[in-house]
Amino acid sequence: MSIPTDKLPYFFGSDTRSKEAYRTIIDDTVQAITDSVTDAGAYQGASVEDLQNLMQATTILPQTGNGWDAVLDEVKKTILPNFLRTWSTNYMAHLHSPALLESIAGELILSTFNQSMDSWDQGPIATEVEVAVVNELCKLYQLGEDADGVFTSGGSQSNLSALTMARDWYCNTVLGHDVKKLGLPSCYQKLRIYTSEVSHFSMEKSAHLLGLGYDAVRKVPVDELCRMDVQKLKTMLEEDVSEGLLPFCIVATIGTTDYGSIDPVEKLRVVCDAYNLHLHADAAYGSGLQLSQHYQQRLGDLGLCDSITVDFHKMFLLPISCGALLIKNRSRFEVFTLHADYLNREEDEEAGYTNLVGKSLQTTRRFDALKVWMAFQCRGKDGFASIIDTCIENAAYLAQAILSNDRFELAIKPELSSVVFRLKGSCEKNKQVRRQLLHHHQVVIGQTVYQGRTYLKFTLLNPLVTHQHLDELLAFLEKLGSSIQ
Ligand SMILES: *Cc1c(COP(=O)(O)O)cnc(C)c1O
Repeated sequence: MSIPTDKLPYFFGSDTRSKEAYRTIIDDTVQAITDSVTDAGAYQGASVEDLQNLMQATTILPQTGNGWDAVLDEVKKTILPNFLRTWSTNYMAHLHSPALLESIAGELILSTFNQSMDSWDQGPIATEVEVAVVNELCKLYQLGEDADGVFTSGGSQSNLSALTMARDWYCNTVLGHDVKKLGLPSCYQKLRIYTSEVSHFSMEKSAHLLGLGYDAVRKVPVDELCRMDVQKLKTMLEEDVSEGLLPFCIVATIGTTDYGSIDPVEKLRVVCDAYNLHLHADAAYGSGLQLSQHYQQRLGDLGLCDSITVDFHKMFLLPISCGALLIKNRSRFEVFTLHADYLNREEDEEAGYTNLVGKSLQTTRRFDALKVWMAFQCRGKDGFASIIDTCIENAAYLAQAILSNDRFELAIKPELSSVVFRLKGSCEKNKQVRRQLLHHHQVVIGQTVYQGRTYLKFTLLNPLVTHQHLDELLAFLEKLGSSIQ
């Protein structure tokens, strides 16, 4: 059914006409999406030049609107055919997952109702759902009685929030200096964060935004499995303290972005206690393992950490964006609390209305917790365990296949679901193989640098990938590699 431009209602609402228009545009959209996908490849779209030309040829803001039918036609022609297909078993480039079906329904619901998480009166049930999901997560990660948390846009925001908390806590309790009120203390150039040399770049970005600069991030060397070397960390801390520097935080990476390697939280807790430091776990990648009976112990005891970054748009397979920051001691959220007369009225809070704005860097915020609430109930612990175990086992299988093939070299034995390896020979050969796969074979794989050389990467977040598929891909890589000298 088509809707003439001048008849397109503004909103979904209680009257029949707007309900019908809503159903029409959703049905049309579903039809267009399902029609657009006819093969199993990861990328069938145009080249970079063609896409740029396509965009230049489009009038984005016409004087008079073209209406729903025209814009849907444009989407069918321009957008849908050029999407990367995250569900394809040939897509394994990044920590970028396909979206579980029930969570797509969650997205539709949360956009239709467009609740906002900043105050209770902008999302009554949304607020209560987020509070309940956060409590469940605090239990899941065993953070104890005083734990709390908040949903975020993802790992980068969770890490920035955690480092802000750590900095303010340290300045308040150790230096007796209130950063929130006064800004940085005069000794700010001495503040130091410790994290491994293969940690995520959001550490440096956060240090910059916090006014500390990249140099405040001390990169600790890693062992042969790309885990933080705790002995070297201790030596660095000793030297830094003796030079008068002020360490305030250690960030353990629980699943590094490239290798999936996991820093030892138990040992890091002991170091944090000895030096009075905040222990943050960046578990953006590894957090999913908490739902796996088989592999959960690989994470170590995350309940020992002062804060944990959890991403649901990676191993949990929920649509972007969906992340959380969990903290052991709820009082550390004080750093983000600011009273606004129009949002968090004191008399409301005393009467039991929860305004979540006080826990977040954001003000207006999406109801992403709904996706976790729905997917957890839909699949259960067993459903998620089965997804995660399959991915971990696929990575182990692939690593073994690479080790037993003398055309390939493996970087390190995988702990999670990403496998870093290379075709023996030049870096150029590896780079060319990756590009050819993308543009000629609809296979999208990752590329990184390990010990100064180009490596390829399979990030296996899709439980539909089979051993046979991995065998075939390896054989194909080998063939492509031998055609390039
Ligand atoms: C992906 C990732 C991040 C960043 O998370 P976003 O959700 O992309 O902001 C941070 N740390 C690690 C270890 C990651 O893998």
